[in-house]
Amino acid sequence: MFILEKLAQYARTGRTAIVYGDDSLSFAALERRSNAFARYLLDTLADDRTPVMIYGHKELSIPACMFGCLKSGRGYVPVDTTFPPERVRQIAAQVQPKLVIDLAGAGVGAPVVLDADALEAVLAAPAEPVARENWVLPAQTAYILFTSGSTGTPKGVQITAGNIAAFREGVAPWFDLDVDGGRFLNEISYSFDVSVCALYDALSRGMTLYTVDKTTLGDTKKLFAALRASDVDVWVSTPSLAEICVQSEQFTNALLPHVKRFVFCGEVLTKKLAAQMMERFPGVPILNAYGPTEATVLVTAAEMTRDMLQSDRPTPIGYAFSNVTARIVSESGEALPDGEAGELLLLGESVSPGYFGRPDLNAKSFFIDEKTGLRGYHTGDLCYRLDGLIYYCGRLDSQVKLNGFRVELEDVENNLARVENIARAAVLPVMTDGKVTSLTAFILLQSPDGLSALKRGQKIRAALSGVLPSYMVPRKFVALDAFPLNTNGKVDKKSLAALL
Ligand code: AMP
Repeated sequence: MFILEKLAQYARTGRTAIVYGDDSLSFAALERRSNAFARYLLDTLADDRTPVMIYGHKELSIPACMFGCLKSGRGYVPVDTTFPPERVRQIAAQVQPKLVIDLAGAGVGAPVVLDADALEAVLAAPAEPVARENWVLPAQTAYILFTSGSTGTPKGVQITAGNIAAFREGVAPWFDLDVDGGRFLNEISYSFDVSVCALYDALSRGMTLYTVDKTTLGDTKKLFAALRASDVDVWVSTPSLAEICVQSEQFTNALLPHVKRFVFCGEVLTKKLAAQMMERFPGVPILNAYGPTEATVLVTAAEMTRDMLQSDRPTPIGYAFSNVTARIVSESGEALPDGEAGELLLLGESVSPGYFGRPDLNAKSFFIDEKTGLRGYHTGDLCYRLDGLIYYCGRLDSQVKLNGFRVELEDVENNLARVENIARAAVLPVMTDGKVTSLTAFILLQSPDGLSALKRGQKIRAALSGVLPSYMVPRKFVALDAFPLNTNGKVDKKSLAALL
């Protein structure tokens, strides 16, 4: 794998790979520690290739474990601490890991569980590099990322080493800054696939990752101090982070004097934000990029221009990467002419082999194209194309993006229906300026609870926060006596929307 070759190469340079607060890790240490972990896995798990589960946040030990897994020929499942222990256990129940690294006390059962101290002892052991024959092969799983699933339990997107290679090839013209070294913002949690840009692209160019953790993200003063210290050359984030930043007048090129490129992805980049960014950082390219986890991080990109922002169209999500086929089709699967909106299908080497252990979902979402033999994925995104540029017009299902996080509304509804005394739930997104800003849950109680709306909300929120990450917990709960139904007996969400 390219990244593993590059780690060994940069290990000889004395460069810093990752900075996290006052701590840092050199490429040499990353190489050494990932070798130690790979050796340990080969000794401990022998031929068992079940992916290793890693529960933590941004600890410097995590990338060493990830690359150690790849060097030993197995994948990993990174699970961020935004996932509460119950959701982590649901993931473990699917993966059945033989080895879990538990840096935050999720209490997952597995034959081998390493806490932070035990892991440190493993990583600090002297180790020779692992022979390449042991490395993960292009067709093998490199990582599995669990994302919101409509049944109420998360689903795991499997990504192979070959998928990552295809992503790197596709994104190269957009990220290629001719940089050898430089600083890269490391803001996205490792359990979300945008972090792959940092781990697999930036590190393989010898760049240094400047880590911003969730505590820092939640505290504007700390955030700006961290951004100033980072002095990044490349910024990749969701628009949501930049939206927080532009609230402050400090967010200008005086804060980041060397920034050469902003890449926004994961959710709608509003024209307002793109325009603000152009004003605050004159001359710095602002890119909008798009891609689902299932097609490995990103598949389209374009640099934003003033003309694009002045047009009546939505912000374009870009041109398809040269190794990705993007097809826009009608409901019956017919290719649509330019300008007509339909579902976006993605085909190519970066498309995942499927969800882990979910043949039912795979049959619905993935396919092999008869004509080309390419692997394809139904994105569920409604798009149209004009002059090669693709425009995103919304979802065809009830998936939403909230502060950059992917949420299936049915996931929240199914978890709500498991809360004591809730008979049924319908969750609706609350929109501001064309973006989802929060969720409201309408509920039917099994029996009257005599509670005030405030007390009931607190009780439900407490129950949900044990099973769902905080970004999936609705802000408001509204109890109704009955749900409005449409003619086919389903909850009429349009009528409910009028109550928002
Ligand atoms: P995820 O797998 O979490 O990256 O989410 C993928 C989904 O996020 C896509 O299917 C889109 O619905 C949405 N998305 C990603 N990038 C963009 C973008 N640049 N503009 C609008 N929506 C986006």
